[in-house]
Amino acid sequence: MAEQDCIFCKIIQHDIPSEMVYEDEWVAAFKDLAPVAPVHILIVPKKHLSTLNDATESDTLLLGKIQLAASKIAERQGVKENGYRLIHNCGKDAGQEVMHVHYHLLGGKTLGWSPD
Ligand code: 5GP
Ligand code: ZN
Repeated sequence: MAEQDCIFCKIIQHDIPSEMVYEDEWVAAFKDLAPVAPVHILIVPKKHLSTLNDATESDTLLLGKIQLAASKIAERQGVKENGYRLIHNCGKDAGQEVMHVHYHLLGGKTLGWSPD
């Protein structure tokens, strides 16, 4: 299921180090290497999917698990009350750099809203 040469698959398998903050059967989450907010966590499915466009009906449960994990992680990170943002960049125009589906959980400050 893991894709060779995928950096997030290697992080999920603990082959390369990360600051892991959450893990369950479906999902892993770790601190972003270059945070843009006081809380910046990457939430990834353990199954390798390059982009959201590769998800199918059979991934419906997995996609739901990611959302539920986000809420748990927000609580653990202390941002559930004040709020947080969950972002998924899909493809070139959105600036996706790592081709393994991931969601950015951002919080810990008032976030701007300018996708320029
Ligand atoms: P994208 O632009 O694809 O949505 O976001 C990729 C994110 O992955 C970036 O925020 C980047 O800082 C983060 N990132 C890239 N490589 C690594 C890594 O090896 N470890 C961690 N923890 N984050 C990474
Ligand atoms: Zn991968």
